[in-house]
Amino acid sequence: MVSKDLPFTRENILKIMEKYPTPFHIYDEKAIRENARRMKSAFKDVPGFKEFFAVKALPNPFILKILKEEGFGADCSSLPELILAEKAGMSGDDIMFSSNDTPSDEFIKAKDLGGFINLDDITHISYLEEYAGLPEIVCFRYNPGPLKEGNAIIGKPEEAKYGFTREQLFEGYSILRDKGVKRFGLHTMVASNELNPDYFVETARILFELIVEISKELGIRFEFVNLGGGIGIPYRPEQEPVSLEAVAKGVKEAYDATIIANGLAPLKVYLECGRVITGPYGYLVSQVRHLKSTYKDYVGLDSCMANLMRPGMYGAYHHITVLGKEKKAPAHKYDVTGSLCENNDKFAIDRMLPEMEVGDILAIHDAGAHGHAMGFNYNGKLRSAELLLREDGSVVQIRRAETIEDYFATLDFEQLKGFR
Ligand SMILES: *Cc1c(COP(=O)(O)O)cnc(C)c1O
Repeated sequence: MVSKDLPFTRENILKIMEKYPTPFHIYDEKAIRENARRMKSAFKDVPGFKEFFAVKALPNPFILKILKEEGFGADCSSLPELILAEKAGMSGDDIMFSSNDTPSDEFIKAKDLGGFINLDDITHISYLEEYAGLPEIVCFRYNPGPLKEGNAIIGKPEEAKYGFTREQLFEGYSILRDKGVKRFGLHTMVASNELNPDYFVETARILFELIVEISKELGIRFEFVNLGGGIGIPYRPEQEPVSLEAVAKGVKEAYDATIIANGLAPLKVYLECGRVITGPYGYLVSQVRHLKSTYKDYVGLDSCMANLMRPGMYGAYHHITVLGKEKKAPAHKYDVTGSLCENNDKFAIDRMLPEMEVGDILAIHDAGAHGHAMGFNYNGKLRSAELLLREDGSVVQIRRAETIEDYFATLDFEQLKGFR
């Protein structure tokens, strides 16, 4: 069981709404910082441990700045994400660049920032060399194929577009070695929203064993291993969070048995998690606009899938709290919908909630990762504001809501007048 308590009351939100109308995303700074410290403390005995926050999960520079203060780096996969990390004051060892099908300008930017460049394919070695030049340290992304079972969201590794095969890793590192590269990293990312801690320990063991093999065969030394992201969160109240202590303990044991035993220490151990860092500490706050009863009972919100698409896209569960009705019995069954002209624009289907009224305020939980970030403008819908609940209880807007002018910014209506 995990508690689905809120860091704010209905009264707090009513006050916030005087300045920032619903819908909005609100992030709990205190909880994000405490969580970051919890992760660091769990991994304190894992050599060289560092987390690179996956920017795509919550691409807001204010959040990145907070995480940098807590000692995290950023895992970027596009030029805008690299720029966001840079704006948050990150460079060099703070930046991991894990992309795929990568354009040359992104490699150039990643190299200019001095970040770790993680190549997705063997052909990217010559591409990187041609456009940006080879950096001092190069990392490859490994796709274990049939050697590792996948999980539901990311699918089977052998069906995934990412990474090098095992054979390509040996070939790729020997190409780099022969070109004079002396510092190496190895990465994989094979899970998404995985709740079993053993999965991550097994991934670490696979990578450590591979490092032993490659180091011996090619006579090279690895400086870091990046175990990827994908640590899940308990979206449902009955689920349990992943024990980071259990993951760290398992990783440390595997490290001792492989890396230490083969004299390959020091090897730094990195993670690039997104979801588990901010996911549980963000909420989409939305108000009930209409109630509708036909063949089913519907609660129509002032937000939609453009603000949080996980339920519509994956059928994902997001817990919902009706503010001020926390103690009321969830005795009524509703579909909670947005206003998009798509029938999968539902935040919840057949959800038991207290009796709803127009004007009720809902907090949709676990929207702090892959929430606002996945927003879109289909159907002319606008992305909402992002607010930060500070440790002292004050609230700052860290991204304003989109306006109709933003939506039309790429159209030229003057040109339209003369067009026939
Ligand atoms: C999405 C992604 C992550 C972060 O995944 P989470 O599930 O948010 O932890 C990390 N690395 C890569 C390469 C990714 O694509």
